[in-house]
Amino acid sequence: MRELRDAIIQKGKALGGNVVKVDMFLNHRLDTALIFRMGAAFAEHFRAKQPEVILTVEASGIALALATARALSDLPVLFAKKSAGAAQGEGLAQAPVYSFTHKKWNNICVDKAYLPEGTRVLIIDDFLADGQAVRGMRMLCEQCACPVVGVGIGIEKGFQDGGMDLRRDGVNLLSLAVITGISPEGELLVEG
Ligand code: 5GP
Repeated sequence: MRELRDAIIQKGKALGGNVVKVDMFLNHRLDTALIFRMGAAFAEHFRAKQPEVILTVEASGIALALATARALSDLPVLFAKKSAGAAQGEGLAQAPVYSFTHKKWNNICVDKAYLPEGTRVLIIDDFLADGQAVRGMRMLCEQCACPVVGVGIGIEKGFQDGGMDLRRDGVNLLSLAVITGISPEGELLVEG
């Protein structure tokens, strides 16, 4: 998606350790027009798969998930919570996820009541790096016996393994932009 690619190049910053900061438009300040167009792009790609719920993980995936849900005739959005303590349900699905940005383990969880068996799930997230967050969300779906009909990612970092692993697994993955590398000067190399 050219508009997203341009935003990453113009407003993104490479921090150390392969972390890319896009606080100007996606992770802190939200560029609503861009985010709704990203949602529309996901909707166009995945509509034929007939998703029934959008699943993401708090907090940074929520805006993009909401935009996608809006473009898919107002589907519900379910966001996994990052700790079981924060959830109040009786029957929780849980999965351990190592956070790439915070360097710590979280037990992400959803209340099984919100993912009834057989619900067709579209997973949406802002970034794909090593694939831990998506792997965790797929585990939640598996525990609830729900098929994952696709995975939509705003920004994939192509130099990390998450995208390759998902494609190898035959997952229907759409990344709207792919950062293929970071130059020694900190310049972001982007396809999209
Ligand atoms: P993964 O689980 O694929 O290793 O990392 C994806 C998750 O970590 C996303 O939910 C995202 O919030 C966060 N993340 C990973 N890499 C980056 C990055 O370079 N920049 C930002 N802002 N978030 C990232």
